[in-house]
Amino acid sequence: MNGSHSSSFFGVLNVVDHDYKSTPAARKAAFEIRAILEELRDFTTVSAVSRCFPYDYRYSWPELAKRRFSSQIVYYNRCKNKNACPVCSRVADAKARRDFSYEFDRFVHQGYRPYWQTYETGFKPELDSRGRIETLNDLWRKLQQVKTFTRLLKTDQVLNFRVTEFTYFEGVWTPHFHVVWLFGPEMRQGAIDTFLSVGSKVWRNKQANHPNCIASTRVLHSGKLDPGSTRPLAHYLFKCMFLKVDEHGIVLSRYLKTPMEYLAGFARTAEVEYLEAWLHYEQTSRRVRRYKFSKAWKAKL
Ligand SMILES: [Zn+2]
Repeated sequence: MNGSHSSSFFGVLNVVDHDYKSTPAARKAAFEIRAILEELRDFTTVSAVSRCFPYDYRYSWPELAKRRFSSQIVYYNRCKNKNACPVCSRVADAKARRDFSYEFDRFVHQGYRPYWQTYETGFKPELDSRGRIETLNDLWRKLQQVKTFTRLLKTDQVLNFRVTEFTYFEGVWTPHFHVVWLFGPEMRQGAIDTFLSVGSKVWRNKQANHPNCIASTRVLHSGKLDPGSTRPLAHYLFKCMFLKVDEHGIVLSRYLKTPMEYLAGFARTAEVEYLEAWLHYEQTSRRVRRYKFSKAWKAKL
């Protein structure tokens, strides 16, 4: 038997598997990420992360962990920090990514039409990272208070999933939102187009009137999503803690962008500037929920 029964069964149901798989590459990445935690342990500003102990019988220990803990009795105990622990944040991301992927597929199957939109803003140059994330959240709150927009937003015909992402530029972590919109089967195309353009206009208007922002009239980037694009879409949305690993170990991209790239860059090169960028991210991302499903999204499941 070659498993053709099960594949045709899933084919009929049109179910795509988004479960996490323990492949050799995934195990290699799990090992590398623990080696990074060991490099970080002495430097992190988050005390829970310095005490995180993600070793159980499934994983071999990096050399640094063996040396560090050889004389102590320790128990498997993850810190569960969702932003600043290289191990636990990736576990949280994997779970959120899995939920997002299955739920997105389910809504699309029910006739919801997927779109994306990027909510970014120009900040006053002197505004620090923490001020930028607070300002961006403030703009999002203000957007929710505009009637023309919320009238539609509050119906169960509009669902959204929002990702808060940071990019590092000239010593400042600058945030933006990626929003996935799902528009219900009953919504006409004209209403969808209006919704997206009203969102863009109101956002720019709130931005222009915010003391921490620089005005812009540029239309927000937006577009239609291919209903079959769940996997590349999820990869794109959940890239903050992504780590590329090949048979030789961590693969660093030429230009570092994500928090994880800076942390992995430090573990690889011991470059102090990379560590500084990461520690700066630890502080900036405190209490930030990087992934948010709208109430209607979860209520509709
Ligand atoms: Zn942890």
